[in-house]
Amino acid sequence: MVMENKIEIDAKKLLNPLVKMKNANISMKIKVGEEEEEDWEPMGPTPKPKVPTLRYWDFKLLERYPPFYMPICDMCCLCTFGKCDLSKGKKGACGLNIKAQQARVVLLACCIGAACHAGHSRHLVHHLIEKFGRNYPIDLGNEIEVEMPIARTVMGMKPKTLGDLEKILDYCEEQITHLLSATHTGQEGDYLDFESKALHAGMIDDLAREVGDIAQIVAYNMPKGDEDTPLIDLGFGCIDKNKPVILCIGHNVVPGGYILEYLEEKNMEDEVEVCGICCTAIDITRVSDKAKVVGPLSRQLMFVRSGVADVVVVDEQCIRTDILEEVLKTGAVLIATNEKMCLGLEDVSHMNEDEIISYLLRNRAALILDEEKVGKVAVEVAKIVAKERKDKKTLPNLDEVVELARQCTECGWCNRNCPNAFKVKEAMALAKQGNFDGFVDLYKRCYGCGRCEAICPRNLPIVSMTTKVGEAYYKDLKFKIRAGRGPIKDVEIRSVGAPIVFGDIPGVVALVGCSNHPNGEEEVALIAKEFLERKYIIVATGCAAMAIGMWKDKDGKTLYEKYPGEFRAGGLVNCGSCLSNCHISGAAIKIANIFAKVPLRGNYAEVADYILNKVGAVGVAWGAMSQKAAAIATGVNRWGIPVIVGPHGAKYRRLYLSNGEKFKAKDKKTGEILEIDPVPEHLIVTAENVKECICMIPKLCMRPNDTPKGRANKIYHYVDVYEKYFGRMPPDLEKFVRTEKDIPFMMKDKIMAYLEEKGWKPLEKYPQDPTILY
Ligand code: SF4
Ligand code: SF4
Ligand code: SF4
Repeated sequence: MVMENKIEIDAKKLLNPLVKMKNANISMKIKVGEEEEEDWEPMGPTPKPKVPTLRYWDFKLLERYPPFYMPICDMCCLCTFGKCDLSKGKKGACGLNIKAQQARVVLLACCIGAACHAGHSRHLVHHLIEKFGRNYPIDLGNEIEVEMPIARTVMGMKPKTLGDLEKILDYCEEQITHLLSATHTGQEGDYLDFESKALHAGMIDDLAREVGDIAQIVAYNMPKGDEDTPLIDLGFGCIDKNKPVILCIGHNVVPGGYILEYLEEKNMEDEVEVCGICCTAIDITRVSDKAKVVGPLSRQLMFVRSGVADVVVVDEQCIRTDILEEVLKTGAVLIATNEKMCLGLEDVSHMNEDEIISYLLRNRAALILDEEKVGKVAVEVAKIVAKERKDKKTLPNLDEVVELARQCTECGWCNRNCPNAFKVKEAMALAKQGNFDGFVDLYKRCYGCGRCEAICPRNLPIVSMTTKVGEAYYKDLKFKIRAGRGPIKDVEIRSVGAPIVFGDIPGVVALVGCSNHPNGEEEVALIAKEFLERKYIIVATGCAAMAIGMWKDKDGKTLYEKYPGEFRAGGLVNCGSCLSNCHISGAAIKIANIFAKVPLRGNYAEVADYILNKVGAVGVAWGAMSQKAAAIATGVNRWGIPVIVGPHGAKYRRLYLSNGEKFKAKDKKTGEILEIDPVPEHLIVTAENVKECICMIPKLCMRPNDTPKGRANKIYHYVDVYEKYFGRMPPDLEKFVRTEKDIPFMMKDKIMAYLEEKGWKPLEKYPQDPTILY
């Protein structure tokens, strides 16, 4: 229906949406998909953007932050024209050059990541609609009105029911298909266009995650932004080995949810241990505080080898593909529950639960695609198998570790094949003499990838030996994590919006991502601790949220026990699993909308421009490993939020780096285009070590919009961390001091002396309301 004095516009016809719309003072009702939506906000220029719709925004970002490529390989072997040598300026048989090939690989990674999250969310939404119906409401309670800020901005819609989420997924799937098709031989040929497509894939990934997390929050009654969610047991040591143990690994809460539901129904919650690894762990603790978290992905092989689990239930993503072999070696039972990971197992979904239990006791592994059946089956099988396995030993004892170490020839292949060059050979040499110091150190830092074992010519079970020593030497492997709270409440945004935008809160640091840590989990906790003490806001998700909990102070307290869970200065917020990363970009979007009244509806570029210029947030993916992490980081970049990745992040092959020279921005108030300081300096950058990462964080939280007081606050922290970790002033400080007013009072003399030495000159004028949309 077209309302009086309003016009209906076909958004598809808007070629340059921003230019077309900026002078148009119109309110309209636009078709979104098949149905018309209520007129809750005037529609912006880019609802449901297609692949090229936001290209103009991407090119603005890419002009300022040109892609920097680090080819791992300069050959392409994607089609049978090849393999083609793209080194030294050569082109492939299809005409592709090395830059475009690198950008294509990045796009492929982002498509895989986005498909993974969209597939996961589709699975969840499909299942929840079957269970609760299409009209099940999206209700996040009275304290959250902006329920899905990403969907509002990207889709131009305000989803009200689970059924509405299907429409969003339809859009995501369509976009992923187009993006993936662009990687085919003889399609896109320009590296910047590949990058624009990668940014689009990242945005789709963010949207798909929002769908999945909101669906599970409303349907499972997970916390809806509560800041005081319960403290959950975390770590190897919190699992009661005297009970049957069910371990859930992966990312999809559905099977674990049915296990917890069955235990509750049968009043057996205290009789069986349900624990998890990776994001499924976080999400089952959002369903029940009886569930426990073993740890991040890095502890997967070690925990399975420890033989504590009687039944291992796997769902999807980031699970070891040899999990079946590893589980069977311990005498436990494996249940696969997802079409994406069938592991060659017989599909027994058609059998009834009792038949499946008998099958599993005979065959030890099966595929059950009807997740509802997994509840009873996993529990009843665990009860039986736990008795059978009571005295089963799966790890060597310490004497056997010494005996095994004596078989080591000290050839050093393990060290060379370890991604972190850990000193396995040296640990073996010490263990031969009964000294386990090397293995103790290894246990703290190793992430159990097993590459050392795979190459060892003596077939030594290095991960099992490390696990045994860790078990013996770290008796107290019990920690705490606060259960994932989901979104940030509107009221919290109202109270921190101004201090963040003006720089009085020096920054929001999002610690996210996997556990490909160069030096163990402790470094993530160290980053969190440093910035909590400095009153930044720390937000965490996924494996990084777990890593933060795996460190204790001298009083035995974890950071979750020491700092509040509110989104405020000095708060430590665990949003939840990887899906919950959407609430981090969601919080930045809500600052634009709730605090600054920037309309969201179909208004991507204006919202992203606001975030880039005014919201001092930085993502840190210290252990980023997966294609999902590539998509998440690229999606966050499109919103204008910079990301720091750990040293392994260089293997993603592409960074977005500025040259450190002054940027240009327009002052919205005067219309002038002026030179500004280069902030944020980069969009995606690697740090070689944790000290470098810590020192980059305050710098990447600076924004052109900082008031002099806010900038002085940020500069104070930048100088202070640099002096703490490197014992000197930051070598590029002069770039970020706009005028003398930006210099923190406490550091005035030394900063002035430094600036004089550098020949620093103040900026005569800089924008009071900066934008790059011109
Ligand atoms: S896609 Fe192009 S560069 Fe790659 S192998 Fe085929 S022809 Fe060679
Ligand atoms: S590869 Fe095996 S044999 Fe060689 S040093 Fe390492 S543990 Fe010893
Ligand atoms: S299992 Fe640990 S020590 Fe072995 S290669 Fe992997 S990270 Fe290195």
